[in-house]
Amino acid sequence: QEQAKILSEYFGLNTSSEAKEVTIKPIGNGHINTTLLLQGTKSPVVVQKLNTYVFPELNELVNNARLIERHLENKKNSNNYKLDIIKHVATTEQKYLVDINGDNWRALEFIGGSYSEDVVINKQQAKIAANAFGQFAAALEDFDAKKLFPVIPDFHHLAKRIEALKSAVNLDKHDRLSSAQDQVDFCLGQEGLVEELELLKTKLPLRACHNDTKINNMLFCSKKHNAKAVIDLDTCMSGYWLFDFGDMVRTFCSPEEEDSTNLDNVVIREDIFEAIVEGYVTPLKNLITHVEKQSFWVGAKVMCLMIGVRFLTDYLDGDNYFCIKRAGHNLDRAKNQFALYQDLLKKEGKLKALLD
Ligand code: ADP
Ligand code: MG
Ligand code: MG
Repeated sequence: QEQAKILSEYFGLNTSSEAKEVTIKPIGNGHINTTLLLQGTKSPVVVQKLNTYVFPELNELVNNARLIERHLENKKNSNNYKLDIIKHVATTEQKYLVDINGDNWRALEFIGGSYSEDVVINKQQAKIAANAFGQFAAALEDFDAKKLFPVIPDFHHLAKRIEALKSAVNLDKHDRLSSAQDQVDFCLGQEGLVEELELLKTKLPLRACHNDTKINNMLFCSKKHNAKAVIDLDTCMSGYWLFDFGDMVRTFCSPEEEDSTNLDNVVIREDIFEAIVEGYVTPLKNLITHVEKQSFWVGAKVMCLMIGVRFLTDYLDGDNYFCIKRAGHNLDRAKNQFALYQDLLKKEGKLKALLD
């Protein structure tokens, strides 16, 4: 409550005489920042305590998002972008970051009449979400990707992620290697994918990418269930569309959550894969190059493998990056991602045909 009061003063949500009416409550299911809804007498705002372990460069992070905000706003004014835009709210002193006892907070306009999902329910939903990410990508087509600061350098660099795994294996700081040897061997057997990706990159245009195209990073309209907004612009950086496509495949296609140990059910739902292709490619159809579309298959493989590699590395390292709720949680997540990756390989023929 004390924090709510301080935040509402910074963001001018109340006059001090009304300060009692301020309420604060958690919303959503984000894994990186702490996200709360702050309500006072003026319009509610979303406040986020930003994770400085993941994002040491907060000014650059906010600056990236605000550059994109303004670009999308121009598009929207000329009728070239239809979704809502998630905008930063300034403090009464025109600042976008506030420090409260060493914690860093920002505020975003609350998008009311919306909800987010954590697991894709059906192919209609997958198509709507993929289409929203496609509209977002299309709107950024003429945005200079080089303007975006690399808030997490080499975020989707498979080769470096595998190198990090190798060092964690060599150090084996927490004596966990013996419990993960099979998974480590499996990963190191997949290094051929690194070359495939590096070769592709030389042929692809650099794009401004979202880089975190999970289902809970978009909002659906509560009434019509259509797409309302693409949110969570924290990891917007220059990159390749194949990663955004691949992360949708990774996070939409499995009927299980990414930490499920029910590995028999960790599979690629082909109808969802097809819905992602249709939904995402339609807004991009006049922009996407042939090689780019072909690259999406590699994107799907890379994202499933790479996130698995990261979970495995974090497990060996002692769980520093991803929050864990139980012992072995990161190892479970890694096993889950490798099961998904293997199912993807098994269905290569059919899935590639859907991309063609
Ligand atoms: P994280 O970076 O931790 O993933 P997000 O920015 O994705 O945090 O926010 C977490 C969740 O909070 C979202 O999945 C969504 O449910 C909710 N949320 C975030 N911003 C808004 C907003 N502006 N309006 C409504 N809901 C929001
Ligand atoms: Mg998020
Ligand atoms: Mg985020």
